[in-house]
Amino acid sequence: MKKIVLLGPPGCGKGTQSKLLIEKANFVQLSTGDLLRLETSNNSDLGRKVKHLMDSGELVPDDVVIDIIVKKVEENKNKNIVFDGFPRNLNQAEVLDSSLENVSVKLDHAILFEIDFKILEKRIKNRIIETKESEKRKDDNSETLLNRIAVFKSSTLPIVNYYEDKGIISKIDGMRKVNEVYDQITKIIS
Ligand code: ADP
Repeated sequence: MKKIVLLGPPGCGKGTQSKLLIEKANFVQLSTGDLLRLETSNNSDLGRKVKHLMDSGELVPDDVVIDIIVKKVEENKNKNIVFDGFPRNLNQAEVLDSSLENVSVKLDHAILFEIDFKILEKRIKNRIIETKESEKRKDDNSETLLNRIAVFKSSTLPIVNYYEDKGIISKIDGMRKVNEVYDQITKIIS
């Protein structure tokens, strides 16, 4: 069973590719963004604690996401897992490794979506314009978005070196069509 991490800035298509992996390749998706949104929409204590951070595009504290994800890793250890939106900084990457080790599995691949940031910004702005007001996420606005891209560059990109040192990083062209991006991923994991 495979364990893979998708790395890339907001709006690069990680979610779309995770859905394809679920439909076609028998993966479960662990998305910290989705899991946190579940908490905020349930208005749980945790959800209320992190809502303002998510709305502004900042990372929520590591202990919060780590708690959520470690439980899910244990539950799904015998399945193919795609991690989407986690890890987002070096500390989370190290914690992920040790929590996988605790259940005797390890990460097979970290896949980086390489993106032209100028085109990405345009894509995201179009997504904001095209999405119906009722379906819009609170963090789908230009200001938060630019902050999310900045947070990606400063906190998440350094993880690439970490996975490079471990010899498990693969880089794909995230600007290609959806099915072409998917083909690149399946080549790596097969
Ligand atoms: P994106 O559209 O960038 O893929 P996500 O849905 O993954 O966004 O995450 C939305 C928000 O949830 C982030 O901006 C952040 O506030 C929070 N979040 C999600 N995953 C993490 C994480 N691993 N560490 C810290 N914060 C996170």
